[in-house]
Amino acid sequence: TRLTRADLDGLPAYMPGRNLADLTRELGIAEAIKLASNEVPYGPLPGVIEAVTDAMLHSHRYPDMGATALRDALAERLGVDAERIVTGCGSVALAEILVKATCLPGDEIVYSWRSFEAYPIISAGVGATSVRVPNTDGHGHDLDAMAGAITDRTRLVIVCNPNNPTGTSVRKAELDRFLASVPSDVLVVLDEAYRELVTDPEVPDGLETYGDRPNVLVLRTMSKAWGLAGLRMGYLVAQPEVAAAIRKVLTPFSTSLVAQAAAIAALAQEQEVRRRCALVVAERDRVTEALRAMGADVPSSQANFVWLPLGDGAIAFGQVCESRGVIVRPFQGDGVRVTIGTAEENDAFLAAAEVALKS
Ligand code: PMP
Repeated sequence: TRLTRADLDGLPAYMPGRNLADLTRELGIAEAIKLASNEVPYGPLPGVIEAVTDAMLHSHRYPDMGATALRDALAERLGVDAERIVTGCGSVALAEILVKATCLPGDEIVYSWRSFEAYPIISAGVGATSVRVPNTDGHGHDLDAMAGAITDRTRLVIVCNPNNPTGTSVRKAELDRFLASVPSDVLVVLDEAYRELVTDPEVPDGLETYGDRPNVLVLRTMSKAWGLAGLRMGYLVAQPEVAAAIRKVLTPFSTSLVAQAAAIAALAQEQEVRRRCALVVAERDRVTEALRAMGADVPSSQANFVWLPLGDGAIAFGQVCESRGVIVRPFQGDGVRVTIGTAEENDAFLAAAEVALKS
């Protein structure tokens, strides 16, 4: 007898980067370096620890299920009505709930591949069919092919901009053309987890540029630029009817009291967030240039990571880095994603990369 769905057997599991403490212990070094999960390396923002500590005084009570204060703070910052915002336990949980709110078994979800590894998992969760459109030779989305992949069964198209793990992004002219061709009964998700790190003026802010379209939804996170990865807080902005439908299938109370308080405190630190993002961007450009000087074919990244398209050499590259105390994120047979850390961390990575690329 089997107690769980047979169709889940072939589904690849989400693979987080190697555990930092484990590698540190194994190598017997002071501390290994983790450049595997696209976190920003500068610690919690000022005010966040105090806000969390204060919130703990009320932790025997349920949180505000509607996250009203946080949604008001987000609404003000983003210039949209609070009723259009839904918060969730990380943007990945929101993406999952969004799939639940839009797809029945057999419905299709179109996305580029390779892209964020959670997309196949959340699609399979409801029995929806993943339609993966191969990336271009330049490792970015092929929007024309994605538009061509839409059928009568398509409910969602996910555009990951910038794309995880390749760092590539789609520009306004391409996206304009794409959106004009998508049928009005297909919801387009702009997954902008790394929006705060975008510096190319041709890469549009999905919310500012397309936020008023009925079938566009923008997904953002507080895990990266806002430094709250461990607390789990994401949000989406959609039209009010879409937001209301998504709210109906939210897991009740899934954003904790502490996460809500931390997010409000973080939003008060916009200047500091900008300063931190600028440091990451400068390092991103330095690391890209250094890798290219070593002969690696690194696409330009608009996120806080870079992509090395090493094909079958990906796993070996990752192993050399780990043996030198640096955890990166290899994707077997495809490439390696490396998160931008502090200047010292990046130097340690570049030293390991030099060895790995020669071996
Ligand atoms: N979307 C993309 C493109 C991501 O890279 C990530 C994090 N790796 C997420 C969503 C999810 O982030 P979180 O759940 O931490 O908000």
